[in-house]
Amino acid sequence: MSILLPTSTAGSLPKPSWLAEPETIWSAWRLEGEALIEGKQDALLVWLQEQQQAGIDIVSDGEQTRQHFVTTFIEHLDGVDFEKRETVKIRDRYDASVPTVVGAVSRQKSVFVEDAKFLRQHTKQPIKWALPGPMTMVDTLYDAHYKSREKLAWEFATILNQEARELEAAGVDIIQFDEPSFNVFFDEVNDWGIAALERAVEGLKCETAVHICYGYGIKANTDWKKTLGSEWRQYEEVFPKLQKSSLDIISLECQNSHVPIDLIELIRGKKVMIGAIDVATNTIETPEEVAATLRKALEFVDADKLYPSTNCGMAPLARSVAKGKLNALSAGAEIIRQELKA
Ligand SMILES: [Zn+2]
Repeated sequence: MSILLPTSTAGSLPKPSWLAEPETIWSAWRLEGEALIEGKQDALLVWLQEQQQAGIDIVSDGEQTRQHFVTTFIEHLDGVDFEKRETVKIRDRYDASVPTVVGAVSRQKSVFVEDAKFLRQHTKQPIKWALPGPMTMVDTLYDAHYKSREKLAWEFATILNQEARELEAAGVDIIQFDEPSFNVFFDEVNDWGIAALERAVEGLKCETAVHICYGYGIKANTDWKKTLGSEWRQYEEVFPKLQKSSLDIISLECQNSHVPIDLIELIRGKKVMIGAIDVATNTIETPEEVAATLRKALEFVDADKLYPSTNCGMAPLARSVAKGKLNALSAGAEIIRQELKA
């Protein structure tokens, strides 16, 4: 990336109220058929422009084309029955009614490639596209077929790799895999989680990222965070392995979190997307607050590898709040750019 401290968001941005119920996740579409397809594209263009106006350097679709970061991908796969639902505990944290794996999973055609092409047509800026990570996919389903999280993750990794190769061909510059599960299932991460992720990025020439966070600002997550004590050391479990992995970029949560910032030292050499925007509060950071977080991170990341970002997606926030946070991110990064130049 030629620009110093390129800014981006971790993923989702709020849906316009004409497209889906705002300030909620898994919200139902308010349009259908052709109107829904057009509505998603319109929303994508709205957020592309909002990102550009805010001065965001690496832009995304803001996940306007999907209802949920995991289930929308799974909806397009064979072998999963969305009518047959079971309640599972997602990330050991909250109950959710999820679809069931009833047979061998496969992808008949691409899921997001047309959407990615649409975004590519509308900007020359670098674009980032998010896909769910294999472990997080497994954790958002009931498996009545493979009866093995590892086997199912491996199948998903193969499917994700097919999708990722097509996204790369469509002109996506960075493909990001969302793996919040890496903050919860440490033994599995060690046993097969990183290997599955490596399978998903196999053969890719574009940049690859993994996003590991403490989740959206929803109650189940904020309640969970209260149980984690004064120091959140979850990253310590997975960072040494990620440092040795072939992933180019690690996206993590820093702003207002209790993550000891020196844990970033464990991924020295990687590019780091530093979450400098808290997505669990409506309070908009000041540019100076963003700059303070980036300044601290610079003790452990070389400046050419620091990518200012948000802690997580902003789908559950009000549009005005998300816009304010994009502006703060951009202005905060600019403060540090000037300091580095001086
Ligand atoms: Zn996240």
